[in-house]
Amino acid sequence: MFNRRTFLKSGLTTGAAALPLASALDALHLAFAAAAEETAPNAATNLAPRLMGLPARLAPVDPAAESWLQRVRRVGQSNMTEHDPAVMNIEEWADYWHGCQTDIVFISVTGILAFYPSKVKFHRHGKFLNGRDFFGECVAAAKKRGMRVVARMSPDLNWGDALEAHPEWAMRNSDGSVQFNGEEPRLFRTCMFSTYMDDYVPAIMREVNALYDVDCFYTNGWPPLGSLPECHCAICAKLPPANTVAYWHAFNDRLFELWQKYDAIAKEKKPDSFFFANLGGNIHAGPNLDRLGKIAAWFQGDNQGRTNEDPAVWGCTLHGRVCNAVLDGKFAANVTAAYSTGEVAWRNAAKNPAETKMWLNETLASGLTPYYHFIGSEDGFGEDRRWQKVGADYFRWSAKHDAHFRVRRSIANIGVVMGQSTQLLYHGPSTARSHTYMRETTHGMYETLLTGRFAFDYAHEDRLDPEHLSKYRALLLPNIAMLSDRQCDQIRDFVRRGGSIMASFETGLYDENLKSRTDFALADLLGISKAGEVVGTNGNAYYARLERPHAILDGFADTNWLPGAQNRVPLKPVRDAVLTVVPGFVRYPPELAYPPVSHTVQPAVVLRETGSSRIAYFPGDIERTFWLTGHGDLLRLMHNTIRWITEDERVVHVDGPGFVEMFAWETNPGYAVHLLNYTSPNAHHGWMQSVYPLGPQTVSLKLPPGVRAKSVELLCAEQSVPFHSEGQLLRFTIPSVADYEVAAVTIS
Ligand SMILES: [Zn+2]
Repeated sequence: MFNRRTFLKSGLTTGAAALPLASALDALHLAFAAAAEETAPNAATNLAPRLMGLPARLAPVDPAAESWLQRVRRVGQSNMTEHDPAVMNIEEWADYWHGCQTDIVFISVTGILAFYPSKVKFHRHGKFLNGRDFFGECVAAAKKRGMRVVARMSPDLNWGDALEAHPEWAMRNSDGSVQFNGEEPRLFRTCMFSTYMDDYVPAIMREVNALYDVDCFYTNGWPPLGSLPECHCAICAKLPPANTVAYWHAFNDRLFELWQKYDAIAKEKKPDSFFFANLGGNIHAGPNLDRLGKIAAWFQGDNQGRTNEDPAVWGCTLHGRVCNAVLDGKFAANVTAAYSTGEVAWRNAAKNPAETKMWLNETLASGLTPYYHFIGSEDGFGEDRRWQKVGADYFRWSAKHDAHFRVRRSIANIGVVMGQSTQLLYHGPSTARSHTYMRETTHGMYETLLTGRFAFDYAHEDRLDPEHLSKYRALLLPNIAMLSDRQCDQIRDFVRRGGSIMASFETGLYDENLKSRTDFALADLLGISKAGEVVGTNGNAYYARLERPHAILDGFADTNWLPGAQNRVPLKPVRDAVLTVVPGFVRYPPELAYPPVSHTVQPAVVLRETGSSRIAYFPGDIERTFWLTGHGDLLRLMHNTIRWITEDERVVHVDGPGFVEMFAWETNPGYAVHLLNYTSPNAHHGWMQSVYPLGPQTVSLKLPPGVRAKSVELLCAEQSVPFHSEGQLLRFTIPSVADYEVAAVTIS
């Protein structure tokens, strides 16, 4: 046995005798560790953390002061095809969405094909349009039923006649050739820096505004999702090279110039109209999300289902957390594709209902507005109709509980720094540019927080000021490689005010322009200094040798070392290291699989305490290595470390079995605790096939002074549950969770 207790008994390792073990907190952790050994494999969910009181409630909302958009709760779209004017029954279409209690529908204007008799040059009429005003008839049918209308455009592609007249509109390859659409080569890709966006797109918007009563304008297909464009046209040739920081700034400047121009055109007819666009890519988004959050009325997540690159079930909630980091409570929706998304796609066939429903659950849980989507009417209302009941049942159910789904603010106490520039521009320790490295890091951190049932938000790198960070007990920096001096000062300020930090790997080793720094930008704060270039793995990854007892090692027994990570930054020695590096060695042949050097003075973690601030730094890419391997030691080490830096303070505690994602919100009626049940063989791959129900979940919250619970209602089970109040402490039990449950606390 080699754990905290035997450490104390035996004084087994160097440094143990000198260790200040007497603090009450350490004693507490010791008791926890002992309890954990006897009872539970997962330390993070079975011990009783310290419950912190919730902050004073926000002032109530005045419904009269709300915009029409803030009242939108359900969004619908039949994505119209060229053939629809020949076959679509407009009354049936409008009845379906109206019957689902949909507040607003997307109707295609497009830009690739006109769905009305457009007079704008190169706005080609669909071949089944035959002069019919299909768009206008759809708008009238929606309006007759009280639904609002989004005029949906696609400025990303156009046809050969436009290319012939305007060769300058096309995106070009480096050899000067035109970039065509990969699936339909008759369509060329339009360049966002060209006059196509300045002249053609506004002409369509003005034509639509003149002819129809639409409520807002939207562009599909632009800006690009999840990556930056690479174009070599005459205009782009004068811009900084693609995928550099300087290019990113030029891209953002152009994007926001167009956004504001389109928004002004939308408002030419009605001041409460606006423009918005597709924003996919979540944490890998192209547009600067801080700038976007300030100007976007509607933050639209084109994040319709799992992808091969992001195979985990939490893809929608991850997006929701990104939205919430930059929106300041403004409207956001996320699209759920009822059709079969993915690498092998069937755009006209319904996907597994359990998967579709989970994506909708995630939308609501993360505070976004659900938006349901199927392709076309011929297929959507003819060939495969299975999606209809799934969406209708879901929308009608959600409509009964709208008050509890309108979130005011997250009550999380952990902020995960969202390094958008690192996600987009940093390539990881290899030299090849790739988003994969940071995807893996993101998912490793995310799963760690989910399995530990921590309440957390994303904090955007450009919003690290006290106004945005003061609610957090701790900030996590999972390999936030690019940090400016200003951002570092803001993080120092957060720590000075008593906040804690957990950081890893190359955090702060690059500036905001991706220029390498000679030492960590936060070397002073983290108590570290770089001793060499990144060391990767050749065979066996490195190990971390246990040097002395510490709360972050709770639950580890019968081992002198733990797995390290795939890559690490060598550090100069520190005093009283808790873990030291055993350098990696070959895995094969086994004859040579032993450490030539079994003990070094290089730290494998650096821990510091100043007042209430606790700081932990891992020199390895520990989150990412956990994602690649699923090694439970790495998970336990991160859970323990997050608990240590937060002094185990929680704002909401949910105890019970299962792999669950949790959200906790302040709402107008009170509070809402959302539990998403991901316990399934398909949580990490493929689609949900069925539901694996969970047993009782006990929820604890400490309400603000003067606030009393009046009722606790389970919105999915549609039943009330008893609750216990002791002072400000509120406890109740959710007897079981199918795929999703929302415990809505109404206060008096
Ligand atoms: Zn270009």
